[in-house]
Amino acid sequence: MIVSAIRRAWLLPSIDWIEFIRFTCPNHEVKLQRMKINRVSVWQLDLPLHKPYWLSGGRLKFELLDSTLVRIDTDAGVSGWGEGCPWGVTYLPAFGKGIRAGFEELAPLLIGKDPRQLDAINRIMDLALPGHPYVKSAIDIACWDIAGKSSGLPICELLGAREPDPVPIASSVSTGSPREMLDEVQRFRDLGYRVHSCKVGADVSMDIERINLLAANERDGEIMFYDANRAWLPREAITVLNSVSGLTSWFEQPCETLDEIAQVRRRTRYPICVDEGLHSMDDLIRIQHDGIAELVNIKINRVGGLTKARRLRDFCLATGITMLIMDTGGSVVSDTGVAHFAQTIPASSCLGVWSCQEMVSVDPAPGQGARNVDGCFSAPDLPGLGVEPELALLGNPVATY
Ligand code: MG
Repeated sequence: MIVSAIRRAWLLPSIDWIEFIRFTCPNHEVKLQRMKINRVSVWQLDLPLHKPYWLSGGRLKFELLDSTLVRIDTDAGVSGWGEGCPWGVTYLPAFGKGIRAGFEELAPLLIGKDPRQLDAINRIMDLALPGHPYVKSAIDIACWDIAGKSSGLPICELLGAREPDPVPIASSVSTGSPREMLDEVQRFRDLGYRVHSCKVGADVSMDIERINLLAANERDGEIMFYDANRAWLPREAITVLNSVSGLTSWFEQPCETLDEIAQVRRRTRYPICVDEGLHSMDDLIRIQHDGIAELVNIKINRVGGLTKARRLRDFCLATGITMLIMDTGGSVVSDTGVAHFAQTIPASSCLGVWSCQEMVSVDPAPGQGARNVDGCFSAPDLPGLGVEPELALLGNPVATY
């Protein structure tokens, strides 16, 4: 009788399943307790860089990041935090005001939903607003924070379990003269860094000089990789990669498009990493299927959050693609989401993360979250994200839903 009742009830469009099971199975203890989002609060936070930063061969300059922090509250009294922060307005097709506009569209749809149902939350967002991964990422991370707090587990445990080793932090060495870049590498060495992302691109002769000097000064146990951030034409990338020898690392995003990188891949022998060209599973499938790159840089904001990054991670693990895990910018809130995610990946498949917090002069959660310890990040051993921004440092929300 119960089975036939369930079959009939399944046809009803809006049945409350928990109430239905309670009614049909009065002696069965239903342990799932509903939790509903009842408020979404949004803050804007300026993150000035300690000093101007150039990348893509010096054609792009950055001095200030426009970050958006979100706190999602629930009727169970559990709250979660997330952050969306593009690297300025010229790096990728995203900007801070766009994230906050995205909340106007998505936040009202979240009210009443269970934040722990991450796939369902993402489907709701994707149906209502195609694209716009940066706003979805902030929401997704806040929901993971709630899922962790409500289960008493750090996010890394929910994402698959914490790997034992901390994850090396890659420096971000601004484009400059060869000597200036080597001095900057030394500054990061003094902070404990052993992985260095050296920004090249645009000037072929100078790039060869930069790479040769940096490689000649690489120390045992260090990794220096060379990131053009899309700046080279295929002709330029092929010339540079075939003019330097003896490197044991890789080149990152040499050209603008996957088609161009595929050309470079066919005519050179160093491993290549795709960063700015990876936005979706479609991109990753093409990178793997066409043999375009051996590494990818998964930036959590750019791919739409931890839920979608998890799918990319699993594809990479299944197909032997090595990963770097980063965000596009942000405070310790973003960095800590990165730390949780990166620490679920075996060390041989995750070569580094990035710590944006060390490049900005504002910290909304002093002393909390993932911090540089001997050049590495570890995810906090607290339920959820493990970071609670101080409201006194954020001021008033710019929007509440
Ligand atoms: Mg990069």
